[in-house]
Amino acid sequence: MIDLLLGKFNPAQEAAFDEVPLATADEPNHYLQSEVLDAWLEMHAAAKQHKIELQIISSTRNFERQKTIWENKWNGVTLTQGRNLATENLSDAEKAKAILKYSAMPCTSRHHWGTDFDINSVEDAYFETTKGQEEYHWLQQNAAKFGFAQPYTVKSPERPNGYEEEKWHWSYTPLSINLLDVYLEIIQYQDIKGFQGATCAQELEVITNYVFGVAGSCKPAIV
Ligand SMILES: [Zn+2]
Repeated sequence: MIDLLLGKFNPAQEAAFDEVPLATADEPNHYLQSEVLDAWLEMHAAAKQHKIELQIISSTRNFERQKTIWENKWNGVTLTQGRNLATENLSDAEKAKAILKYSAMPCTSRHHWGTDFDINSVEDAYFETTKGQEEYHWLQQNAAKFGFAQPYTVKSPERPNGYEEEKWHWSYTPLSINLLDVYLEIIQYQDIKGFQGATCAQELEVITNYVFGVAGSCKPAIV
């Protein structure tokens, strides 16, 4: 369980994971937990009946994949909202915070879990187009029937911390709520390691502010 939560595995080699059919994804080699995939295929078919085309563009990403995304931003290989963080005079914590607007530290991404994926586009501008608005509206009205919820809703008193709003990111809550619960129970700050900037994890309280910084629909019930 700890390896799954930290992304230390290869989804292509896991019995509990299956490949997303190419008819519902942008490219091969997208993997999800089997139960999540079944729910996704049902939702995809229902959307299609309403002439809404959904496509998975990012799915399970393991530690190594997340480390590449994170370190490319850290080192300025890829831009972070148009900024090259490597050439700016930033402290490590400032650099990490800039990346954390949209990208998770390795070991803390919900994309490790096999329950979460991104649909159609990871650009806000896309979801402002008529097509993008129709798709998002359909998801808001229907995704819950298939077990899906949006973890990164618009910031509000209910969700004051964490990533910016992501209309594209959806999570299969029948599994992910329990995984979040277990994560909070067993993962310690010293488990978040093995990449540049990892020492900021504790200072920025990434478990409290980002891993737990999700919508109420994605959180365990308070007992
Ligand atoms: Zn995502």
